Order: sequence, then C-alpha cells, then structure tokens
Amino acid sequence: MRFVEAGDLRLSVIGLGTWQFGSREWGYGSTYAEDTAPEIVRRAIELGVTLIDTAEIYGFGRSERIVGGAIAGRREAVVLASKLVPLLPLPGVVERQVHGSLRRLGVDAIDLYQVHFPNPFVSPRSTMAPLRSLLEEGLVRQVGVSNHTLGRWRASERGLGRPIRTNQVRFSLASPLPHWELVPYAREEGRLIIAYSPLGQGFLGGGHSKHSGAPADIRRSSGLFRRRSLELAEPLLGALRGVAAAHAATPAQVALAWLIGQGNVVAIPGARTVAQLEENVAAAELELSAAELAMLTAEAARFDLATRR
Ligand code: NAP
Repeated sequence: MRFVEAGDLRLSVIGLGTWQFGSREWGYGSTYAEDTAPEIVRRAIELGVTLIDTAEIYGFGRSERIVGGAIAGRREAVVLASKLVPLLPLPGVVERQVHGSLRRLGVDAIDLYQVHFPNPFVSPRSTMAPLRSLLEEGLVRQVGVSNHTLGRWRASERGLGRPIRTNQVRFSLASPLPHWELVPYAREEGRLIIAYSPLGQGFLGGGHSKHSGAPADIRRSSGLFRRRSLELAEPLLGALRGVAAAHAATPAQVALAWLIGQGNVVAIPGARTVAQLEENVAAAELELSAAELAMLTAEAARFDLATRR
C-alpha cells in the first residue's frame, strides 16, 4: 500500500467506500450486509487500507453500524471518515448528528468529518461554525468537504478559519472534470481530492456493455449506464482494456491507477465481494507511464464531451 498525508491524517491511496453496506438502493441483500461487508472491512485493514469512508445517510445509519462493528478492536489502524448532511447546520442539530454517528461507529472521535454537500441556502461561514466547535471539543479530528466547487471549498476554509485538507468529489475516467481544476489546486496547496465513484459505479470495471444493460439497482437511473453512453464509451473502455493487458492488470485497476497516478488523489472504491476489494487494493502498486496517463486523460475528455453533447 502507498500513503499520502493530509494534515495529521495518513491516508492509503486506495481507501474503502461503504455506501453499499446495508443500503437498499444497491440491493446487495442481507447476507452481504451481515457477512460480506464486515469481511470486506477486515480484509481491507489486513491489506493496509487505512481510509474507510461512510456517512450517516448510507442505509440510514446501517453502513456506520456495520463499519463500527467491523473495526472494533482495530480502531487505531483506521482513518475513519464519515459525513454530515447539512440540512440545518445549527450547533444543537450538528451536535446531535455527530453524536449519532459516534454511537453507531462505536468510537470517541471521527478522524475526518465531511460536509456531504453544500447547502445552497446556508453560507459557508454558518455551515462551518458548528464544525469548529466539534474540532475544539475533540469529537472530530479534521473537517473535510464533499461535492464542493473550488470556490465553495475555499469559502468554507475561510469560514472554518483553517485549512480544509480534503474535498470528496465524483472523479473517474467516466467523470474526469476534477482533473482540470480541483486536482491542480490540491497539488499546489497541499490538499487532497478523495475520488468517489472511482470506477464509475462499476461502469469502468469491464463487466458492463451496451448489450448487458444497466444493473437492476441504483445504477438503473444513472445516465452512464444508458445504451447510448455505453456505446460512446467503447473507445475509452477499449483504451482501458489495452493498458490493462500491457500490465497484466484489470480495467478496474487501471481506472484506479489513473486516479492515484495524478498525485494528491486517493480513491475510495466500493466492493460487492472480497475479491473485488483485493483487486482494487492491488491497484495501489500499479504505476502507469506518463504516456499512458495522458492517453487515458484524452480518451476520458473525449467521452465526457461526447456525453455532454
Ligand atoms: P464505485 O466505487 O465506482 O463502484 C463500486 C461498484 O463497482 C461495486 O459495488 C461493484 O459493483 C463494482 N466494482 C467494484 N470493484 C470492482 C472491480 N474490481 N471490478 C469490477 N467491478 C467492480 O462507486 P460508488 O460505490 O458510488 O463510490 C465509492 C464510494 O464513494 C461509496 O461507497 C461511498 O463511500 C462514496 N461516495 C460518496 C458520494 C458523496 O456524495 N460524497 C457519492 C457516491 C459515493 P458490481 O459488481 O455490482 O458491478
């Protein structure tokens, strides 16, 4: 495993996303929630993953409970990241929300507490005020943001009165926009991008095609899995397969290596099986050449432009 630092946090370049844990929208079922998900967490820690990402909203608290149960006795090995839904970011409300997450996770403090998305009706300063108190009380070790534009990220830093080291955003070869704005900012200012849906929710894994259609879960409503998008993606998916073959790797591993190869980016893929997790973790060791990175970036840009038209 390789690591990057964000303030006093040491994050594995491949983390673990846990939206799937206990969430109806992914439809992975009760055996997954009870047996596979805890096993995925345990194996991830064994393989050197430190960053585990959850949120109060995933499975309405079930994801936090599953993660909490699985890390019991291994707390020190983990950088625990959760998220606050900032519907009403008033001090009393946020206190209740963080205590709910702490209880479900079974810990005294959350290492990285992220504002899940900006609330357009509340200023960054007002959103950050209660979070500053949580830092002072030691209930959270660092504040992060998610789904923030560069402008809102910087305004949130001013509101908090200290650097916000991480912004968790949708970022993959299928959604490459952060490459041109957020990543350069992160690189220059000592910040990190946490790439969510780094496999395009499985789109880049090579198992979906225009013939197979969208999976019968949350992805049915995703524009990415529509027939037209799968057709437009053929050159990108072909390029991924080509690079994968040259490295005796899989398309999913190349998709992750492209992200972490940019520096100042960590990826948090979700997994349906322990085998997928192991495959994803192994991508930490895969280094792509500058030419391969540039070729994949160009294919991603072409796909992005084509789907916007
Ligand atoms: P993702 O990680 O891109 O895709 C996960 C899915 O891809 C898996 O459920 C699995 O689905 C497939 N997969 C995983 N490993 C694979 C492999 N090696 N080969 C082929 N397919 C593979 O998408 P995500 O779950 O949306 O994003 C990851 C994490 O980011 C979430 O768990 C969550 O923690 C976070 N997230 C945050 C936000 C936010 O607003 N901050 C939003 C979304 C997600 P199948 O096997 O069923 O195809």
